[in-house]
Amino acid sequence: MSEPSTFDVVILGGGSGGYATALRAAQLDLSVALIEKDKLGGTCLHRGCIPTKALLHAGEVADQTRDAGHFGIKAELIGVDMAAVNSYKDGVVAKLYKGLQGLVKSAKITYVEGAGKLVGPTTVEVDGQRYTGRNLVLATGSYSRTLPGLELDGQRVISSEHALNLDRVPASAIVLGGGVIGVEFASAWRSLGAEVTIVEALPRLVAAEDEEVSKAVERAFRKRGIGFKTGKPFEKVEHTDSGVRVTIAGGETIEADLLLVAVGRGPTTANLGYEEQGVKMERGFVITDERLRTSVPNVYAVGDIVPGLQLAHRGFQQGIFVAEEIAGQQPAVIDEAGIPRVTYSDPEVASMGLTEAKAKEQYGADKVQAYNYNLGGNGKSQILRTQGFVKLVRVADGPVVGVHMVGARVGELIGEAQLIYNWEAYPAEVAQLVHAHPTQNEALGEAHLALAGKPLHAHA
Ligand SMILES: Cc1cc2nc3c(=O)[nH]c(=O)nc-3n(C[C@H](O)[C@H](O)[C@H](O)COP(=O)(O)OP(=O)(O)OC[C@H]3O[C@@H](n4cnc5c(N)ncnc54)[C@H](O)[C@@H]3O)c2cc1C
Repeated sequence: MSEPSTFDVVILGGGSGGYATALRAAQLDLSVALIEKDKLGGTCLHRGCIPTKALLHAGEVADQTRDAGHFGIKAELIGVDMAAVNSYKDGVVAKLYKGLQGLVKSAKITYVEGAGKLVGPTTVEVDGQRYTGRNLVLATGSYSRTLPGLELDGQRVISSEHALNLDRVPASAIVLGGGVIGVEFASAWRSLGAEVTIVEALPRLVAAEDEEVSKAVERAFRKRGIGFKTGKPFEKVEHTDSGVRVTIAGGETIEADLLLVAVGRGPTTANLGYEEQGVKMERGFVITDERLRTSVPNVYAVGDIVPGLQLAHRGFQQGIFVAEEIAGQQPAVIDEAGIPRVTYSDPEVASMGLTEAKAKEQYGADKVQAYNYNLGGNGKSQILRTQGFVKLVRVADGPVVGVHMVGARVGELIGEAQLIYNWEAYPAEVAQLVHAHPTQNEALGEAHLALAGKPLHAHA
């Protein structure tokens, strides 16, 4: 065994959370070792955010081609070349991967390739070599979960990783799970020509969102021919001659080419020595305080292994926070409700802060006001032929505490929504800001005008 190398910060896992910690720590002149067993960039870059959004964009191009006649353009969709779609998607990933490798290299981070395991409170062993940190950051991310007794075979019963590597568009697919990942795949596959049915145990699709958002997505999916069964727990799957047969609560069966299991993501924390070193865990997640400190001194955790929203930008921000904390900068605690959430299906969903129901729970029903501005009154949305709304939730005589949007491209509006929420803006303050015309941003402006009591293109 060779002598341990010592660093200011050792980071286990090079995904969104881990590499952000490494880059910020290096900027702050800390010596950094970043340990990654697979590819720098982790789930988001290689198996998550980026490839799924490329697939969804290819689907959007297919839909736009089908709909071209509505805009007076003569075009015909003659097919989907999945090999070419995959090479476009993989090309986007490859370019970003190369850029990220360059960033880490130029930041003078010691990049260690290999699987690490904790062998001391702040010591990680990789292939017999030990790396000790004055601080250790756990950032080992997550994996696709399944249900008890439901085995992924990678062919007919698949996870999102398998789905991203399919060499064909399935003629038909059942998607188990109506959360973000499930509805994004359902949306992309439908756009590319598949018959899709979503099975969800909860009473509505995108159940973490405001109820009106779920209703709008369900209405739009119905129009797009995406089938869904909500409030129907999965019971079993069997192989048929050509695919799978899924039985749901009540005995109803659905057949398709394949079943995508999108029931959530579990933390990658097993057999990594976490418990042995005394790191407090619950159901596999690493428990931290609001400053992302674990129960072991000088050991922090970031990203999907910390309970809460499993989103890349949360991991980035937590990584920046931890690096600054280690450097003694005392950064402000991250507000989980201030993290933007976007679902990139068609229609898109984008939200900030509290749903109307949660705001009423928190502040009392009579202290909460909501306003729903329909995109029917927004010029740019009509040009795009999209439907949906911007819904605001405010505390009476107080700030906006929730923004909920549905419609094509509303994900791009989340930037303004997150400033409104995080700056605790009052409707009257946003109402006095000028929004360019014609943009979809105007819908946000109009909703605030209305909630401030001076609607322009809307009824009070
Ligand atoms: C299909 C899909 C779509 C998604 N879309 C979005 C989206 O649009 N927007 C968004 O914000 N989020 C999205 N996410 C979520 C996002 O990918 C995650 O929140 C994010 O990747 C979490 O970052 P992380 O650093 O915690 O973990 P990960 O990205 O999972 O990285 C952890 C890294 O640790 C490494 N590792 C694990 N164990 C060891 C070990 N023992 N030794 C060395 N290395 C190890 C792994 O190889 C991995 O690279 C999506 C996820 C999926 C699956």
